[in-house]
Amino acid sequence: MRHATFASPDRTTFCRLDELGLQVTGQRVSAQGAVLECRIVEPDEFCESCGAAGLVRDTVTRQLAHAPFGQRPTTLLVRVRRYRCGPCQRVWRQDMTRAAEPRSKLSRGGLAWALVGLVVQHLTVARIAEGLGVGRHTANSAVLAEGRRLLISDPARFDAVAVIGVDEHGWRHTRFGEKYVTVVIDLTPVRDGIGPARLLDMVPGRSKQVFKTWLEAQTPVFRDGIQVVGRRVRGGREASVRRQRDL
Ligand SMILES: [Zn+2]
Repeated sequence: MRHATFASPDRTTFCRLDELGLQVTGQRVSAQGAVLECRIVEPDEFCESCGAAGLVRDTVTRQLAHAPFGQRPTTLLVRVRRYRCGPCQRVWRQDMTRAAEPRSKLSRGGLAWALVGLVVQHLTVARIAEGLGVGRHTANSAVLAEGRRLLISDPARFDAVAVIGVDEHGWRHTRFGEKYVTVVIDLTPVRDGIGPARLLDMVPGRSKQVFKTWLEAQTPVFRDGIQVVGRRVRGGREASVRRQRDL
């Protein structure tokens, strides 16, 4: 640490909000959680239709669950400007797609934290929801959607997979029983000591039935490459580690 250079303390960079195009303007911290008031850095004041500069009409707030800091949920309260164009009367909101998907209740940082928690750290959906300060249903739907978005953009993920982890997460209690999602993870980089676990797939349903069908749907080349499959159940307990021939 002798040669370390220090910058001034700054909540925006510490909470990685600069990456989301946000700047912290205020904070409210309690034992239960932290609320960070933010503004969107880019003004976005020009009308898309006619190019005229809009007038600020008012400000609305959008609440986003962010990655937890200091062992407590961190919520962003983003102040979003609404503009009105004089010449064409168009009304719009400041663009905040860098911070979150449209209509999402989680920031991009919160989503990334949740996905790493699920895939790499084997956290339960309950623990992820607690970390984000949101309900289990919200946490699960957001993580499923983000997982699928990332999976679609990575078709090469099935290459050279040798060790698979299968996680089963129960996430919703209903009158008719629990809802489950099965998360299939590539543990080859962990076994080889070259990197963290990677997400392969997320499929609704219980792991026993879902994984069998899932494996049958893969290519013979992929199936032949699999050496070990480890199955974990909710709570991260190791249920069984079996060779493929025992499945
Ligand atoms: Zn206009």
